[in-house]
Amino acid sequence: MGIPKHHTEPVIGEEEIRGRVRELASQIAKDYKGKKVTLVAVLSGGAVFAADMGRALWEAGLREVEVDYMAVESYGAGTESAGEPKITKDTKAPIAGRHVIVVEDIVDTGYSMQQLLSLLKSKEAASVAVLALLSKPSRRKVEVAIDYLGFEIPDVFVVGYGMDWGERYRTMPEIVKVVMD
Ligand code: 5GP
Ligand code: MG
Repeated sequence: MGIPKHHTEPVIGEEEIRGRVRELASQIAKDYKGKKVTLVAVLSGGAVFAADMGRALWEAGLREVEVDYMAVESYGAGTESAGEPKITKDTKAPIAGRHVIVVEDIVDTGYSMQQLLSLLKSKEAASVAVLALLSKPSRRKVEVAIDYLGFEIPDVFVVGYGMDWGERYRTMPEIVKVVMD
């Protein structure tokens, strides 16, 4: 399937993302001072955000940080959630007793995060918090408590900074919206 004809328009620029990542990192470093943290990046979209956040946490003084990964699939190549997301990759390291921060690119309907949290909570982590770069509150179908949020955005389809459309745009450094021509 080819990607339909479209163009992109700016939503959040590189500088703004960098600044917000730094602010969130200093808040998280304060909240988790002295604790052993595991960042669980949600693949694939959350990987870019988690990489920047891990380094920002280091700079903010939080250095006992492990990084692990989970994957959840809901979208395929479309721009609408297919519902019933499936966890396709679980964490590698044991989570029991650790302070887990789930790092996600965007919370949309909330179904993916709900699935991830129910699996993580069954692993007896010391605590589980949610860090999301973006949230589309107007699209929520199930309630998800986001502990640390980058930006709220309206109901638009965005790409860049880890987020893709049919695997395109993940490596774009800024966040843009897709507009059909
Ligand atoms: P949810 O299960 O909350 O509906 O969807 C969460 C996942 O859908 C996100 O982690 C992300 O992978 C994908 N998603 C939701 N909205 C967007 C969007 O605007 N752009 C892109 N590229 N992916 C999105
Ligand atoms: Mg995601």
